[in-house]
Amino acid sequence: MENHDVGHAPVTVLGLGLMGQALAGAFLRDGHPTTVWNRTKAKAEPLVAQGARLADSARDAVAASPLVVVCVSDYAALHELLDPLGDVLDGRVLVNLTSGTTRQARETAAWAAQRGIAYLDGAIMAVPQGIGTADAVVLHCGPRSAFDAHESTLRSLGAGTRYIGADPSLSSLYELAVLGLMWSIGNGFLQAAALLGAAGVDASAFAPLAKQSTETVAGWLSGYAQQIDDGTHSVLDATLDTHLASMEHLVHESESLGVSAELPAFIKALTERAVADGHGGAGYTVMIEQFRKPSEALS
Ligand code: NAP
Repeated sequence: MENHDVGHAPVTVLGLGLMGQALAGAFLRDGHPTTVWNRTKAKAEPLVAQGARLADSARDAVAASPLVVVCVSDYAALHELLDPLGDVLDGRVLVNLTSGTTRQARETAAWAAQRGIAYLDGAIMAVPQGIGTADAVVLHCGPRSAFDAHESTLRSLGAGTRYIGADPSLSSLYELAVLGLMWSIGNGFLQAAALLGAAGVDASAFAPLAKQSTETVAGWLSGYAQQIDDGTHSVLDATLDTHLASMEHLVHESESLGVSAELPAFIKALTERAVADGHGGAGYTVMIEQFRKPSEALS
């Protein structure tokens, strides 16, 4: 594949919602000639003011660059937009940063392969304000040669831009896994804030301790990962039996303060199953076995 990894290579961005505008803005800031298109034309105006070229049609936008980045609401929108453009996408690299499932990513990769399109499926682990910064992580999977040919352009999206493998479904899976992790942390904070709030403690007063506790847990993750990969679940801090006793306290406390006990009750139920499986004396990572089961087996 021709290497475009030099100078300020041209790029096209299709879809200028909150994220698409941020993506196009980052390419422009790095000096890439950037062609844009959006269903609702007016959203392109700030980008045009920054030097973007607004194409008259999605077809013209695709024809303008060897690299086409698309970021729309969902895969239904993606296919409505791209299905009529297979001929003009032929021979180009298409980077799809639309969120979806692994199945949608695989089906779209197959659709692209039938049309001669080099397809990279991507996942954005950042908010629009983070795009183009040192903190932004954008994962790409699909043919390595397509990523290598455009790596320097794609790197404009953030210092964490990287290639993670040939399987076109991998980015979607990472995106969902990370979202699940973030929701768990966020909901844990909200439940804790509700509990303390019932006793008159402001969330802001709690936030510094919550942040410190979250960082402590983050520090455990490499050790947890090692145990999961090794299949050993030795006790690093407390046994599962000890954790379960504290979970019972949290459920009772939530109920007695009149705040939702659903989240701690779910965690407690999962832990009870692990203890029933004979793991009460093991370390916390033994809970991975509960998460590995299909959910039917948990109900
Ligand atoms: P958004 O602001 O709602 O923008 C949606 C975009 O999709 C708009 O450009 C919209 O065009 C376009 N669109 C919807 N249906 C279409 C159709 N049938 N044909 C053509 N274009 C269509 O959403 P967003 O925040 O930019 O998110 C876009 C994608 O990025 C989503 O998959 C999202 O999960 C992912 N993402 C977002 C974030 C974030 O923080 N925002 C973070 C990570 C990933 P119109 O302007 O004409 O409506």
